[in-house]
Amino acid sequence: MKLDDKLYLVRFNTDKLNHIKIADNEICLKCQDKPCTRVCPAHVYDWDEEENRISVGYEGCLECGTCRVACPKNNILWQYPRGGFGVSWKNG
Ligand code: SF4
Ligand code: SF4
Repeated sequence: MKLDDKLYLVRFNTDKLNHIKIADNEICLKCQDKPCTRVCPAHVYDWDEEENRISVGYEGCLECGTCRVACPKNNILWQYPRGGFGVSWKNG
């Protein structure tokens, strides 16, 4: 099964609190490759050209943990969503 097909099996209970924060935007400005924009299977991170910063669409986070190891500057502050919030997986 392809990833896009699997994504139809997830359900979200979205929290109003963002569980992902960028620690220091200045570090992102100097980050050449911006791997966070490529590694996240849910495309949570996007470079906002107008605001010159990473925008974080935390609502779609699959809680896979990839971004926590992919950021070369350790610049992503990531916590699990509060209890009862976040992603839930059907069939798994
Ligand atoms: Fe910023 Fe880390 Fe993303 Fe680079 S990989 S743009 S430092 S959050
Ligand atoms: Fe994306 Fe996984 Fe990081 Fe969530 S934990 S933002 S899905 S890479």
